[in-house]
Amino acid sequence: MLDLIIKNGKIVDGTGNPWLAGDVGIQQGAIVAVGQLSQEAHRTIDAHGQVIAPGFIDGHCHSDLMILDYPNSEIKLQQGVTTEVVGNCGLAPAPFFPETASLLQTYVEPILGKTSWEWPWNTVEQYMQTVAKASISENIATYVAHGALRIAVMGFANRPATREELDRMKGLLEEGLRAGAIGFSIGLLYAPGSYTSREEIAELCSVLPQYNGLFSTHIRGEGNNLIPSIKEVIWIAEKTGVSLHISHLKAAGKANWGKILEALELVEEARGRGMDVTVDVYPYNAGSTMLTTVLPPWVLEGGIECTLDAFRDPQMRRRVREELGSEQKDWDNLVYSTGWSSVIISSVQTAANRHLEGKHIEEISELRGQHPVDCVMDLLIEEGGKISIVYFHMSDTDVKEVIRYEKSLIASDSLHCETGKPHPRLYGSFPRIFAKYVREEKTLSLEQAVRKMTSFPVQRFKLGKRGLIVPGYIADIVVFDPDTISDTATYQDPRQYPTGISQVIVNGEITLANGQHTQARPGAFIPAQHQCCNH
Ligand SMILES: [Zn+2]
Ligand SMILES: [Zn+2]
Repeated sequence: MLDLIIKNGKIVDGTGNPWLAGDVGIQQGAIVAVGQLSQEAHRTIDAHGQVIAPGFIDGHCHSDLMILDYPNSEIKLQQGVTTEVVGNCGLAPAPFFPETASLLQTYVEPILGKTSWEWPWNTVEQYMQTVAKASISENIATYVAHGALRIAVMGFANRPATREELDRMKGLLEEGLRAGAIGFSIGLLYAPGSYTSREEIAELCSVLPQYNGLFSTHIRGEGNNLIPSIKEVIWIAEKTGVSLHISHLKAAGKANWGKILEALELVEEARGRGMDVTVDVYPYNAGSTMLTTVLPPWVLEGGIECTLDAFRDPQMRRRVREELGSEQKDWDNLVYSTGWSSVIISSVQTAANRHLEGKHIEEISELRGQHPVDCVMDLLIEEGGKISIVYFHMSDTDVKEVIRYEKSLIASDSLHCETGKPHPRLYGSFPRIFAKYVREEKTLSLEQAVRKMTSFPVQRFKLGKRGLIVPGYIADIVVFDPDTISDTATYQDPRQYPTGISQVIVNGEITLANGQHTQARPGAFIPAQHQCCNH
C-alpha cells in the first residue's frame, strides 16, 4: 500500500525529456514507482490534464531570516518551490561575534528583513541548527557569505586584510563548509565586499576545493563594469580551480544593454577551457536592492552611521551630488544612465514615509521640492539607512537571452519586506517562466523550463536525490496546469499568489492541497550532499 499516488498526469521528470503519461507512487517520503501503477494508496490525487514535476528549487533567494519568521513559506510553496538556497550575495546572518552583531544586523536587514528572533546563533552551524529545529514547510540550504566573514573579522574597514585576518576568515569559512554549507558566496557590489581585492577573495576560495564548495558570485559591477567584473570572478575561479556560479546575470543600465551576449560568450569561453561555470537569472527587467547601493562606494565606508553623518555635512553632500550627476570611472553610477524615475521605493521603516512606497525618486523629490540626490540622502537619514528599492535597469531582450541560455538556471533573488511593495519576483518568478517564457514567447519548452528549476539547480547546489521524478528520489513534487499556471503579482500590486498550481509535496507530505496550505511542516535543512566525499 502506497502512502500517496498522483494519477493520470503528464510527468515532466526534470531531465528535460518529453513528458510521459502516468502515475507517481510515494511511500515514506520517497518516490517509489513511476508509470501506469495499479497499487492501492492511502491517498490519491487525480492530476488529469496537469503536469507532475519535481518541486522547484529557488537556488538564489534571501529568505535566511524570513524562514524563521514565516516557517510555512506560503509565498514560495504557492509557486511550487520546495527548496530555497540562502546565504547569497555575500549576505547571511552568520557567523558573527557578540561585538560585531549589531554591525552585521544593520548590514543584512535591508535585504534579509527584520526578524523577531533575537539571533540565537553565532556560527553558521548554529544558524543551520536553528533553521533545522524551526519546523518549516520547505527545505533550506545555505552558503557561507563573504560579507558576514569580513564584518566578523574586520568590521567595515576599507583596507586589505592582514595575514592574520585572512586566516581567521578562512577558519570561519571552513567551519561553515564543514557544517554543511554548499559553498561560498560573495557580493562585491556591497561594502565590505567592494573593499576586497580579487587576490583576497582567491585566498579565501582556496578553502573550497577540499569541500567541493561552489563559488557563487554577485559580481563587482553589473553595469559599465560588467565585462571586467565577469573576468574578475573567472580569474579567481581559474586560479583556485573552483566551480563558479554567476548570480542574477544581467546587463544593468541603458548604456550596457546588449553586453549580455559578450558576457555569455565569456562564460562559454571559460567552459571551453574546461572551467565549470554556470549562471542564474530571474524573469524580470527590474532588480531589487538597497537604496544605498546607488551611492558612491566611498560614502559607505565605516558602516551606515558614518554614511549618514556624511549626509549631514554640506561639503560631503555636494560631493555626492556631483558624483551622482556624472559618469564615473571607478564605480558604476547606474542611476546616471537610467534616471531617478527608474528607482522606486519598495519599503521604508517609518510610518511617516510609508506613503512614499511605490513611488519613484523623481516623483518624491518633486513632492518634497528637493534635488533627487538631496532627497535620497534625507530619506536615508530619516530611515536610518534602511530603504529597499525596485530598480528598472535591464532590457527585456537581455533577460530573455539569459533565460534561453542552456547553462542558466532559474531563481527568484527574492527579498522579503514586511511592509510596502516588494519586487513581484518574490511572489511570481517560477509561474512567470511558464506563463511568459514557455506559453507566450516560446523561449523555452515546458520540459526545458522544468529542468532549469529542478534537476539542474539540484546538481549545481548539491541537494542530493531531489529534482527528478525517479524511483528512489525524495518526493518533492509540484502538480500544476500547464495551460493556466501564471504569475499575478505586479509592481503596483505585488502581494498576489500565482494561479494554476494545485498540489505541492515536500519530503512526501502534502503542503499545498488544491491551492491551500495544509499547515504541514515537513521541511528540512539540507547540508551539501557530496558524492565525492564524506564531508
Ligand atoms: Zn546579488
Ligand atoms: Zn541576491
